[in-house]
Amino acid sequence: MEQEIINVAEIFGQNVFNDSVMQQRLPKKVYQKLQETLKNGLELDLETADVIAHEMKEWAIEKGATHYTHWFQPLTGVTAEKHDSFITAPKSSGKVLMSFSGKELIKGEPDASSFPSGGLRATFEARGYTAWDPTSPAFVREDAAGATLIIPTAFCSYTGEALDKKTPLLRSMEAISKESVRLLRLFGNETATKVTPSVGIEQEYFLIDREKYLQRKDLVYTGRTLMGAMPPKGQEMDDHYFGAIRERVAAFMRDVNIELWKLGVTAKTQHNEVAPAQHELAPIYEEANVAVDHNQITMEMLKKVAYRHNLQCLLHEKPFNGVNGSGKHNNWSLVSDDGINLLDPGKTPHENTQFLLVLACILAAVDEHADLLLESAADVGNDYRLGGNEAPPCVISVYLGEQLEDVIEQYAESGDATHSIRGNRLNTGVSNLPNFRKDATDRNRTSPFAFTGNKFEFRMVGSQDSVSSPNVVLNTIVAEAFSNACDILEKSKNFDRDVKKVISDLIKAHQRIIFNGNGYSKEWEEEAKARGLANITNMVDAIEALTTTKTAKLFEKFGVYTKVELKSRAEVEYEAYSKEMNIEARTMIDIVSKQIIPAIIGYTTELAQSINAVTAACGADVSVQTELLLETSDLLAEIKAKHALLIEMVEKGVKMAPGKRQAVFYRDKVKTTLDELRVPIDRLEMIVDKDLWPMPSYGDLIFEV
Ligand code: ADP
Ligand code: MG
Repeated sequence: MEQEIINVAEIFGQNVFNDSVMQQRLPKKVYQKLQETLKNGLELDLETADVIAHEMKEWAIEKGATHYTHWFQPLTGVTAEKHDSFITAPKSSGKVLMSFSGKELIKGEPDASSFPSGGLRATFEARGYTAWDPTSPAFVREDAAGATLIIPTAFCSYTGEALDKKTPLLRSMEAISKESVRLLRLFGNETATKVTPSVGIEQEYFLIDREKYLQRKDLVYTGRTLMGAMPPKGQEMDDHYFGAIRERVAAFMRDVNIELWKLGVTAKTQHNEVAPAQHELAPIYEEANVAVDHNQITMEMLKKVAYRHNLQCLLHEKPFNGVNGSGKHNNWSLVSDDGINLLDPGKTPHENTQFLLVLACILAAVDEHADLLLESAADVGNDYRLGGNEAPPCVISVYLGEQLEDVIEQYAESGDATHSIRGNRLNTGVSNLPNFRKDATDRNRTSPFAFTGNKFEFRMVGSQDSVSSPNVVLNTIVAEAFSNACDILEKSKNFDRDVKKVISDLIKAHQRIIFNGNGYSKEWEEEAKARGLANITNMVDAIEALTTTKTAKLFEKFGVYTKVELKSRAEVEYEAYSKEMNIEARTMIDIVSKQIIPAIIGYTTELAQSINAVTAACGADVSVQTELLLETSDLLAEIKAKHALLIEMVEKGVKMAPGKRQAVFYRDKVKTTLDELRVPIDRLEMIVDKDLWPMPSYGDLIFEV
């Protein structure tokens, strides 16, 4: 197979209106003005905006763009866009011009009434604005619609409330920056002016054949299978993880990489994941808001490119029961503009007081606000995954590894630390292999929040969820802990003594959050309970964290969310839960009435005819057929009964007012019935003729890509 050679360095970022393009194309004064406003968070004057918009348009048109769009992230969790072409039609000229003004660049006004707002705006005042986010570069996207200039924006209501996932993220980045700089100053740093959260996202997904996908209405409507028996082989051989990548999948990955590179997304790592048909893609980490945007682009691109390859990319957290689900790991660290990673312990962490203060603050933050962190990762699909021995449990704890845990223990015992454990040399016993020094710390895959060298890895986030909320929470809770520590230490007369006291006080107060053992074990669940750690097992319960007084105080202090915004987000989430469960239930009802019941009736009819025919022909023993017929009929009756119950539940559910009560009803009644209905169906799938079963099986879906 001949393949075109790709020059990655050449195509990387070719469709991005990035800093070097701006430097090249913008008049020097305009470029400087933009940099200044970015640096100091000032408002951009219209004149400057006009020049930028003009150049952006010229550049985009050279790339073939005909339209532009303000691209934003409403509370639906996916991105939204409305395309406008660049054309204007001067009166009576009969011709069009291509134009794009500063005003059009800076501000958009989509009709906001159709986006979830949790009661923030009554529909009669449906004004919402999108505002250009110059910190995330604009880009040209090529697809069947042609080329479109995509402008990342924030989305707010007429009264300034955030209606999206980006605005609070930007606010939280300001908060963590300010508090981090304060902390650095305590240690004599006078050069840092800004600290940015760096985020690297490992994205998991499934890839299946599109023809087969289309035969599964459950996948089409809900993103997951609502029924399906396990094939004879699952993931027990561990032969898929890091296995050789199949041709069809490799071709897909190649195209995804090319498309992402063109858009400036640093796709770096790809491999097969644990489950058959499951894969992962990770870019190189970057500033949190850009990472969040890029993750949205990545998810879109995975779907789009899959389509071109006649494949379907499943981003749902749990597409198949009994098979590992998908998540994404949110790698997070704090980097100053003078090049310091606040989470880098160095070789001898016990001497790195600044790092230990940062670490102690993070422990405090996670312990204090574990409920919020968990909430930030809650989504409907994730309920099927978390706590299922394949993903972190629903108890938040922090993994530090041997070396740091040892330092922390020294502090807890004596208020100071005198030594750090060092990694030994790795000895393979083969003289030709290089010996090298091991990391001081092994990895632990079962922890929800793990320290991995110079960053924390939050592993609870669902694969299809936006990573905005987890980073909003991380930034803000850590900002609070830094702020509290700075309040004490800025007044200190004896810094060296007092900083150690602050560190050991924090450690003593929050040590319960550290856990280095197996997070999947039953013992940990009990131990966690004894330690008083919360175990919130589902989204509906998790949402409550948004509306506590403690949460409001936290977010209001740092200007990230108002109480009203928090309440609206809780409302949106309750409603989203009910709606998604409602779709699952209605899909199930539909499939059962139109596909499952008819198929089983067909099968029982065949069996009955066979019994009659055999008996009439020779009177031979028909006990096997009869037993099968009885068993099948029993299961069919069970299906019918649960099906009727599900219909009744859904009818009740949809009549309830949106909100927590409705969500609880959907969780306890609708979802429970849905789960029960699946049981006899999955049993029948193992009995009924494969030819008669109305949809592709798990085996067909995950082993035949
Ligand atoms: P793993 O071994 O867990 O798969 P990798 O080292 O491949 O982890 O990194 C996973 C992700 O973490 C990547 O996106 C990577 O760029 C990102 N990452 C690495 N260092 C940092 C850091 N200091 N801050 C934030 N993210 C980071
Ligand atoms: Mg990882």
